[in-house]
Parts: sequence; C-alpha cells; structure tokens
Amino acid sequence: MEFLDNRPVCKAEPRPPRHFPTGIPDQRARLVRQMDAQWVNGTVLRYWFFEGPEPQKQAVRDAFSHWKSLGLGLDFVEATARSEAEVRIAFDQSDGAWSYIGRDVLGIASTNPTMNFGWDLTDDYGRSTALHEIGHTLGMPHEHQNPFAGIEWDEPKVYSYFAGSPNNWSRQQTFHNVLQKLSPQEVEGSDWDPDSVMEYRFPAGLIKEPARYRQGLTPPGGLSDDDKEWAVRFYPALTTAERFLTAFCSVPLSLKPGEQANFTVVPEETREYQLSTFGLADTVLVLFEEVDGELRHLAADDDSGQDRNTSCKVKLFKDRRYVARLRLYWAGLSGHTSIMYW
Ligand SMILES: [Zn+2]
Repeated sequence: MEFLDNRPVCKAEPRPPRHFPTGIPDQRARLVRQMDAQWVNGTVLRYWFFEGPEPQKQAVRDAFSHWKSLGLGLDFVEATARSEAEVRIAFDQSDGAWSYIGRDVLGIASTNPTMNFGWDLTDDYGRSTALHEIGHTLGMPHEHQNPFAGIEWDEPKVYSYFAGSPNNWSRQQTFHNVLQKLSPQEVEGSDWDPDSVMEYRFPAGLIKEPARYRQGLTPPGGLSDDDKEWAVRFYPALTTAERFLTAFCSVPLSLKPGEQANFTVVPEETREYQLSTFGLADTVLVLFEEVDGELRHLAADDDSGQDRNTSCKVKLFKDRRYVARLRLYWAGLSGHTSIMYW
C-alpha cells in the first residue's frame, strides 16, 4: 500500500468502559460518561518536561498557548518540579505519541509521564501532534472512533497498514486505536468531524464507507471549528465573579448539565471542615487553595453514577482563600442541588 506522507499516529487508547449500577437511567449515564474525563473549569494544569531537546519543549509550550488563546477558563503553567505537575511530558523517541485522557492523568504515579512525544514537533504535522495530545489531556477522544462517523473499515488492510512501519502496532493496538468504536454514551452530539485535530490521517484503501474517503482521509491539521467550539463550551472563560460561601449557609443551585458554580471560601477559624452537596445530583467538586496567587488543588470528590453526595473533609486555615468549583453532570428530576460547608 502506498502512502506518500507516511507518518506515525497517536497511540492513546480509549478509556476503559465504565459500568453503572443497574437501574441508572440512560440519560444520566450518558451525561456522566460524556463529562467524567473533563476537568472542572478554572483548573490550573501544571505541566513538567522530562529531558528533551529545547525546540521540542517549546513546540509543546506553544501548543498549550494555542489552546489557551481560544479563551479557555483552564490555565496551563509550566511547573518547576515534577511533584507539582499534573501533566508530565516525556520525549521517548521509541514510544510514539500518546496521552492519558482528561482527569485520568490524576491516577498516574507522579514518577511517570502522562504524555509522550516520539517524533519531531516542529513541522506542521508535529505541531498538530502536540495539539492532539493536549486535546486528550483536556478530555477529547479520537474522532475516527466516533460511532456516528459511520466508517466502514477494510479491516484486513487496516491491520496490515498499522502493523507496518512507522507504527508497528500489534493487532490489539490497531483494534483499540482505530477499529473499536466508542460507546455512543461517550460521544457528545451526533456528528462526526473529519477535520478535527483528534482525527488521524488514513491512506487510500482503509476506509470503505463513506465512499469519499476511499482515496484516504487527510485532516487539514490544526484545530477545527468544532474542536474550538467544544473547548470553549466545556472550558469557557471565567467571567462571573465568584460567590462567597459562608460556613453553615446552604446555597441552592439550579445548574444545567455541564454547568459549573464557583465559590470563594475564606474560613473564620482554623479547623477541619466538611464541604458537601445535597440533593439527588451527580457532580464533581474540587477545592483549590490560593498559594502565591495561584490556585492549587487541595481536595476533590466525584459522586457521578452513585447514590451519595460529593463531600470533602479537609483542614482549612483562618483567613486563607480557597475556591470551590462544582460541575454538574446531571441534576435528577428536580434539577436542583445545593452546597454548604461547615
Ligand atoms: Zn490520540
């Protein structure tokens, strides 16, 4: 098979399936699954580089800046210590390009990378690779595994192409990265975006349907309009002033799926506190502490798909400033929840 611009592709595998307790309504499971990889908006993601050439590091910094320039509420800051970084980036040239998806990076031991780049990032293809892997870290899956893409593969040709150089994948890797469709639950909307930076390029002969891709599929590179729209919808610029949360005062909330409420907490005494939500809702709750003007992750809980409430028990210090961010997946039949700390 001939493919003139034969470049390796990302080998980030899809997230493992998530099993919900029986009886959970489809709509609830779907909302949770579409959002449970994403960060609460306003999170400061610190990244740190393992050893690598400076131009490669600069290409990754530029890719973070490009995502940020869309006007995202997330912040990306280069950390000076590996132990402080949620995102740890290696340049192992023998390990291809990959990243864990969204908040899954929090489960990776702090000695290990959460993202790797195995080829040059300074040409157009490399710049798109850097945007692509960061897209995974923001919570985006591979676009060609979108079940709504309606792609019918020539499976033997797909296996044979990816088994060859430069990918050298096992059948299992090809299955996980290309042929396996995501569950419709994990995919938002019903459209496929072949221009997405999360789409691979495929040579002629791998795609049988849609017919227009029989001659191959080459995304234009860079972020598509839909990529940008997705990012600003999940991570809009934080413009509204944060509300203050006062101890023992419950605040009722009426949020739509995906919406977020932000609160400033300045305790009047130093002691252990509990911060909780109330009501039948699926939420992710993250508490940050402001240290030297930067928000540092302090505690988090996620009760999605479970019959309990998010709750963080943590020692807070008098007159320090904390920020609580609550993102809603699903609000039950009432559409209401509330939050309190005491
Ligand atoms: Zn990928």
